[in-house]
Amino acid sequence: RLKVLPGGRLPRYVRVNTLKTTVEDVVDYLKRDGLTYLGQASRLDDLTLKEKQFVKDIHLPELLVLSPKTDFHDHFMYKAGHIILQDKASCLPAYLLNPPPGSHVIDACAAPGNKTSHLAAIMKNKGKLFAFDLDAKRLATMSTLLLRAGVTCQQLANQDFLKLDPDSPQYKDVEYILLDPSCSGSGMVCLRDDASSADQEKTQARLASLASFQLRCLNHALRFPRLKRIVYSTCSIHSQENEDVVAACLQQNPNFRLVPLLSQWPERGLEPLTQCLRASTSKTRTHGFFVALLEKHSEAGNKKQ
Ligand code: SAM
Repeated sequence: RLKVLPGGRLPRYVRVNTLKTTVEDVVDYLKRDGLTYLGQASRLDDLTLKEKQFVKDIHLPELLVLSPKTDFHDHFMYKAGHIILQDKASCLPAYLLNPPPGSHVIDACAAPGNKTSHLAAIMKNKGKLFAFDLDAKRLATMSTLLLRAGVTCQQLANQDFLKLDPDSPQYKDVEYILLDPSCSGSGMVCLRDDASSADQEKTQARLASLASFQLRCLNHALRFPRLKRIVYSTCSIHSQENEDVVAACLQQNPNFRLVPLLSQWPERGLEPLTQCLRASTSKTRTHGFFVALLEKHSEAGNKKQ
C-alpha cells in the first residue's frame, strides 16, 4: 500500500523497469491501488498533480509521474524491482546514450547504479555492461540494486576509472560510455545551501578541483579505441563542472562533436553549448542537472531528437 509523506516539492518520478514489467502493467497496478490515471502529460503543468493522481511523462516513455508526497519505499513494486525511484533528469543519460542490445558499454562511475540498471534495461540485458566505482561500499549497494532489478549483463569492478587501460583487449568492443562522475551535487534540491553562508573561496577551490577531475575522466573515456558515443552528466548547476568541462574536452579532442539533444526539452546548455541539456526545478520540475552527448565525427547521422 502507498504511504503519503509530508512535504516534498518535486513530483515523484517512477521509472518502470522493463526488465521485469511493462508500463501498462504498472499503470494497471496503480489504478487497482486506488490511484487516478490522467493519461499522457503534454505540458509542464500536467506534472503538478494532486494526491493519488498520476500521468505518463511528457518526454520519457518509461516514466510515470505522481504527486510529490507519494512514497513507494515499502511498496511491492519497488521491493521487487519492478519500479525504480529515480529523478526524471537522472533518467536522461541512459535514455540519450541508447546503447543497442548486444553492445559493449562502460558505466565509468556507476554506484549506486540507477543509471546502470537503466542501461541494462535499454540493452535488454544483452551485451556487456562494464560498471566501475572507486568506492567499495557504494559498489556493494549497487550489487543489491542490480540484483533486485534483474540485471544480468553487468560486470562490476571496484576500480579507479582513470587507471583503466583503454587498450586492454577486454574493452576493444566498447562503443558507448556513460560518464556521471562525482560532482558538487549543487543541483540536488535538498543539498542546496544558503549561498551567503558558504565560504566562497573554499567553494571555488572545490569546484576547480572537481572540474579538473571531471575533465580528466572525460578525456580518458575518449581514449577507448572503438568509442562511438559518450554521455557526460552531472547533478551540478555550475558551468565550471558542465559546459566548461565539455568545451575544454572538445577543444582537446577535435575528432568529437556534440549531438543536439531533444529539441522539445525546455532548458538548454548555456551558450554556445545549446546542444546540451540542463534541468531545474523551475523549468523541468526536476533536480538541477546537466547532460551532453558527444560522438566521434565518423559516426555522424542517426541522431536522436
Ligand atoms: N551514476 C551513478 C548512479 O546513477 O547511480 C551515480 C554516480 S555518483 C555521481 C559518482 C560516483 O563516482 C561515486 O559513486 C564515486 O564513488 C565514483 N567515483 C569517483 N571517482 C571515481 C574514479 N576515479 N573511478 C571510478 N569511480 C569514481
